[in-house]
Amino acid sequence: MHSEAFDLIPFVTSLSGCNLQPGLYVVATPIGHLADISLRALATLAQADLIACEDTRVTAKLLTHYNLRKSLIAYHEHNRQVAGNTIINHIGEGKSVALVSDAGTPLISDPGNDLINLCISNGFYTSTVPGACAAIAAITLSGTPSDQFVFAGFLSPKMISRKKQLQNYSNYSETIVLYESPRRIKHLLKDIFDVLGNRKIAVAKELTKKFETIWRGTVEEVARQLENVDIRGEFVVMIERGPKSVVNISDEMIYEVLKSSSAKDAAKFLSDTYGTSKKEMYQRILSIK
Ligand code: SAM
Repeated sequence: MHSEAFDLIPFVTSLSGCNLQPGLYVVATPIGHLADISLRALATLAQADLIACEDTRVTAKLLTHYNLRKSLIAYHEHNRQVAGNTIINHIGEGKSVALVSDAGTPLISDPGNDLINLCISNGFYTSTVPGACAAIAAITLSGTPSDQFVFAGFLSPKMISRKKQLQNYSNYSETIVLYESPRRIKHLLKDIFDVLGNRKIAVAKELTKKFETIWRGTVEEVARQLENVDIRGEFVVMIERGPKSVVNISDEMIYEVLKSSSAKDAAKFLSDTYGTSKKEMYQRILSIK
C-alpha cells in the first residue's frame, strides 16, 4: 500500500455516513498510480449509494486500497442500455450514483456518454469530479505545442481507415493527441509517417506507473527508439502540427490582404500568419490575382 494513501483512510471512511444529493457523479480515478485520486473523488465514492463501473474487479481493487466497501453495478460498452436504464431507475428513486471507468476520466474513450444523456433527458442532477486523464497528462510532458490540441481518441484498427482519418487531420493547426494499444503502436507510427510525413511527435508510455517513459523526436527517430524496447503497456501519441497548406486559405482572405499590400508583401504576411511556405503562397496569390 502507498504511504500517501494510508493516512487518508480515516478521512475517507469518516465521510461514508454523509448523503449526496440524488443524481449522477462522473468521477475520475487514477490512470496508474493509485494515489492520483482527489479527496473529493474519494469522498464522493464513499458517499454514493451505488458505483457504476466498467469492470467491478478493477474498481473493487481501488476501493479496497482506500478501505471502502460499496455496492457496484457493471456499466460497460456491452450492457450500457440495460445497465443505463437500471442506473436511471435508481437515480429516479432518489439514489446517488458515482460513475467511474477502469482508469482516468469516464467518457474519455470510455463509456458514459449514453448515461449522461439519459440523466439530461430525465432532468436529473449531474456533477463532475475531475481528475486524471492520460491525454492531458501526456500532453504536459510531450514538448509538442500544448496551447491548442485535438483529442482524436483511438483511430480505427484497420490500416486504410486509419490512414484516411490521419489524412483528415493533415491540415489541422493543432497538436493531435491519440490513444493507441501496444499491438498497433508501431503500425500507427508507420501510418503517421506515410500520411503526415516525418513530423515531430511524442509517445508517452505507462504514465504515472513504474515504467513511465516518453520518447520525443521525428516519427523516424521515435520509431527507431521503439524498435528495441518492451512494447507492452499503454500509449498516448502526440503529433505536432504540420505546415498549413495554402489551399486552405480562402480567396476572400487573400483579396482582403491584397487591398493594402503588394503580392510580395501579402505572401509574406499570409505565410507568416498561417505558417505556410512563402513561395507557395506567392504562387497562389498570382494564380487568383
Ligand atoms: N478514460 C481514460 C482517460 O481518461 O485517459 C482512457 C481510457 S482508454 C480505454 C485507455 C487508453 O488510454 C489506453 O489504451 C492508452 O492509450 C491511454 N492510457 C490510459 N492510461 C494510460 C497511462 N497510464 N499511460 C499512457 N496511456 C494511458
